[in-house]
Amino acid sequence: MPPSAWTRPDARRPEAPGDAGRVPDGAAGRTGGHAVPMPLTGSCDCRAVRFTCASHTPYPYMRCYCNACRKTAGGGGFAINIMARADSLEVTGRARMSAYGIVAERGAEGPARRSFCTDCGSYLWNFDPTWPDLLHPFASAIDTPLPVPPERSHIMLAYRAAWCAPEIREGDSAFSLYPDQSIEDWHRTRNLWLD
Ligand SMILES: [Zn+2]
Ligand SMILES: [Zn+2]
Repeated sequence: MPPSAWTRPDARRPEAPGDAGRVPDGAAGRTGGHAVPMPLTGSCDCRAVRFTCASHTPYPYMRCYCNACRKTAGGGGFAINIMARADSLEVTGRARMSAYGIVAERGAEGPARRSFCTDCGSYLWNFDPTWPDLLHPFASAIDTPLPVPPERSHIMLAYRAAWCAPEIREGDSAFSLYPDQSIEDWHRTRNLWLD
């Protein structure tokens, strides 16, 4: 999917954050009792690449069924991006990494790059220089236990493989193409943004 689906420019800064700072139950987002951006550690499967970052938006709620996610991360809608602060990223093993420019539905390679380990092939994160502050780690690359989302969004269903039956539960949202909220808005409107 094009990264614009994760960070819609028209909805990045909503007005009222509401009860911002709520920390998910059981999540590692506390320091001295204060809610903070959640520290995350991640790695590829062979551990040649390891990374840390901090996230205000750690809920892995958005399941993408687009062609790129099907090819690179499995066809069951488990290519789930969360969002972290790009300036918090620290990486060991960069020499074992490469990055791939995803090809969007229209056939043109966009500016976004998906980083992966060249040894084991694990996808690590997506980065789009259009949004230089934002890093989109794949939830599956994160080793820190992530909070369980109260509901899920299923996106790019128009592109799902015919054999894939999405597990859409009551309360979930389903979108043929792009979701109606950015990752930031989704967290803020549910008081799940960690600040
Ligand atoms: Zn996708
Ligand atoms: Zn690896």
